[in-house]
Amino acid sequence: MSDLSPVRTSALLSSLGWLDHAFLPAGAAPPEEAAGGLQRHTATVVTAEEAFPRKQREADGVIATGTRPVAVYTADCLPVLIADARQRNVAAVHAGLKGALAGILPQAVGKLLEAGATPDSLFVAIGPAIAPCCYELGEEMLNTILANPLATAPRWFSVQPMNERAVRPQARAVNQGVWFDLPALGKQMLLDKGIPAAQIDVLPVCTYCCAEAQSSYRRNTHYADGYALRHAWIQRKA
Ligand SMILES: [Zn+2]
Repeated sequence: MSDLSPVRTSALLSSLGWLDHAFLPAGAAPPEEAAGGLQRHTATVVTAEEAFPRKQREADGVIATGTRPVAVYTADCLPVLIADARQRNVAAVHAGLKGALAGILPQAVGKLLEAGATPDSLFVAIGPAIAPCCYELGEEMLNTILANPLATAPRWFSVQPMNERAVRPQARAVNQGVWFDLPALGKQMLLDKGIPAAQIDVLPVCTYCCAEAQSSYRRNTHYADGYALRHAWIQRKA
């Protein structure tokens, strides 16, 4: 598989025969029949019925209890796809730093639990997103994270981690000192809801330095080479 513009999938979710899913490359459209919210970095989770047609409803998470695909769009934020093997419900969640700190992940998991899931029936894939190799934050933002009760084990590096998978230069340091691990924050919030670590797959693809061109909003702010939204979707098969 080419590393430059592939459709990526999670081996973990692919092991569940009752669903389909994909993390699409930048610019590719999701399935036409997909539901999805108008994303605002909130903790709002709605149903697929409420979020179809797409973007008519403000929401950062969508849950399907039927066979309609649910989708989110991201640039550097976490695209999180969740499957409940017990009820066969699925969810697509957009979780950037702001939305994660607002509680979108525990909110989405909580709604799946209310609908009959158990923590050990949930399988999650966190798709391509900005990784600590390229995600530099200021001290003030770090302090905001440290003060948030949902961030129980935030992880960051004071020296920029090298990413051996990089296919283009990593972000150049501006402040130097806080290279934040957003995927780890998302994973920790899922672990805190009781989901087993072996049922959380984090794709090792940094949107800034590893994914296809135009994947990263932040890279575009540095190089002005454009970016296009990336869609991720998940669907229970008929
Ligand atoms: Zn990177």
